[in-house]
Amino acid sequence: MEEDLSFQKRLIGRLRHDWTLLLLAALIALLAVVEGANALAAIGLWIIFGTAILARPPLTVDAPGSVKTHATPEDGASMVSALAAGFAALDAPVLVIGSDASIVIQNAAAEKAFGSFPVGAHLSSKLRSPGILDMVNETIATRRPNQIEHAERLPSERVYIARIAPVGAASDGASDALFVLSFRDISELRLIDRMRSDFVANASHELRTPLASLRGFIETIQGPARADPKAQERFLGIMLDQATRMSRLVDDLLSLSRLELKSHIAPDQLVDIVPLLGHVRDSLMPLAQEVGVDIKLHLPAGKAEVLGDRDELVQVFENLVENACKYGQDGKVVDVSVTNGPGAPVEVTISDRGPGIDAEHVPRLTERFYRVSVADSRSKKGTGLGLAIVKHILTRHRARLIVKSEVGKGTDFTVRF
Ligand code: ADP
Repeated sequence: MEEDLSFQKRLIGRLRHDWTLLLLAALIALLAVVEGANALAAIGLWIIFGTAILARPPLTVDAPGSVKTHATPEDGASMVSALAAGFAALDAPVLVIGSDASIVIQNAAAEKAFGSFPVGAHLSSKLRSPGILDMVNETIATRRPNQIEHAERLPSERVYIARIAPVGAASDGASDALFVLSFRDISELRLIDRMRSDFVANASHELRTPLASLRGFIETIQGPARADPKAQERFLGIMLDQATRMSRLVDDLLSLSRLELKSHIAPDQLVDIVPLLGHVRDSLMPLAQEVGVDIKLHLPAGKAEVLGDRDELVQVFENLVENACKYGQDGKVVDVSVTNGPGAPVEVTISDRGPGIDAEHVPRLTERFYRVSVADSRSKKGTGLGLAIVKHILTRHRARLIVKSEVGKGTDFTVRF
């Protein structure tokens, strides 16, 4: 808008100037005729003034960041350095190229993404994607912006939207035209999309299995087992198990979505971990007795307070102690210890002496539906969401989950606040 106003001002100024010149020419011509000079001299004067007006360079429009179509070489150089300074501040990769597709500017982000282009090198010396080169050639020829999706494998796998547009309104065929080739990184969006669709597929699969089993048993009870009360009773027991499994899964899914909703709000209550762990042990006593495990608490004499949400912390430690009892039942003992030295973070470690977890699985344990053995998890009434819930809660509490495991010896899950 400011540019438009300054252009208008300059135009009005120039028109005033031109009219003054013409009036002056008319006045002198009139005087010349009155003073006795002939009409030919008067016409000559008009022609001289008219030529002076027409010979001036035309007005140009200074659109923001545009190439002046009648710029002097100094103007061009200062615009290139202004563009370079502007693009240096961007964290998206940007290349400015000339109409021969040679590199004029490369910002730091582009250097990081594609390696360093020597100034003046052709775009194709580093970017070999035929899609991008075709798009660039088309825009250079037509001066119309274009964009495509572009995937890079090295140095890391990334997906970009590559867009090219001419700088300002460079006139067709101008050999000094510049084009901005910019890259928008959409890798994270793609990853989230993939995770979301994987999650929906996994959740549907997890629900479909018990549902199929329920249907199968209902059909059997209605058909072949219609007159077999013993078989019916057994099938109804299995059906109850499957229905319970489905409701556990739905509960866990709801827990996860509730946690996602408040993931950005840090909890602000002061919670003493010591009595909380006593409560967790009491509530898991029936399960521990069922699998023959002794839960031993090693608690400090005083308090061990952290900023947190009590119910969520109960959920974290119930999950970890329950897993230790279920998967480490062969070890017979689960130790729960708290450390809170002065100036040191509060740490809670849950150790079992079970089979341990192979190192390749450890980094993936907190992924949704990730299980070392699906059959083992199902037989132990697992949903594969327990540790994902734990991780979500701990992230909200700015706490870390550290897993140390040795196959054949057991596993330590440590929560560091
Ligand atoms: P699940 O509902 O299957 O228990 P979790 O998310 O709680 O799901 O745990 C994921 C997987 O991690 C489990 O299926 C199990 O394979 C493994 N796991 C968790 N805790 C232990 C442990 N203490 N010892 C051995 N494996 C464990």
